Amino acid sequence: MPNPKVLLCELCLSKFSENDVVDLNYFPEQQICFNCYVAGRKKDPREWCFGKMNETDPRTGTIKHYGYDPQRSSDCRKYCADRKICHLFATRRIDQFRMLIRSRIPYRTGTISARAYVSCVIGTTKKKLQDLVTSLGGDPQAMLEKFQRGRLGSIRWKFIESEDGKIKIRL
Ligand SMILES: [Zn+2]
Repeated sequence: MPNPKVLLCELCLSKFSENDVVDLNYFPEQQICFNCYVAGRKKDPREWCFGKMNETDPRTGTIKHYGYDPQRSSDCRKYCADRKICHLFATRRIDQFRMLIRSRIPYRTGTISARAYVSCVIGTTKKKLQDLVTSLGGDPQAMLEKFQRGRLGSIRWKFIESEDGKIKIRL
């Protein structure tokens, strides 16, 4: 499969390939690359709340800077484009997550299945998954059925489909 670098990071304008998506060097739904998120995590919370937890004043207990807080903020829970990636950074699980996903993808890098699988691990919707697979030239129904089986060879996963159309693969 040809693998041109056609995906653009909105922030740094670097180009990425479908393989970069599987390696979690680029997040297509957010159109932001891993390096920009790493930089975002280090930024002052006044500039970008990305990848941080709330910062409270130890004396008064009031929140100095808002970070990832889906309980209190509907932005974090529903609307922020970065929310799925943000919580991985804020809880410092991103490195572990990248290692886990790389070692546990049951499909070969460069395949449509690998690409679709990763989007499910990060979390997507049935509609988005179908659009993705169709755009890459695959069969969306066959892909869904494959993922629903929950195993390939010795690798197992949990396929979760909620009533509102959300899809998640738990490794
Ligand atoms: Zn970037």
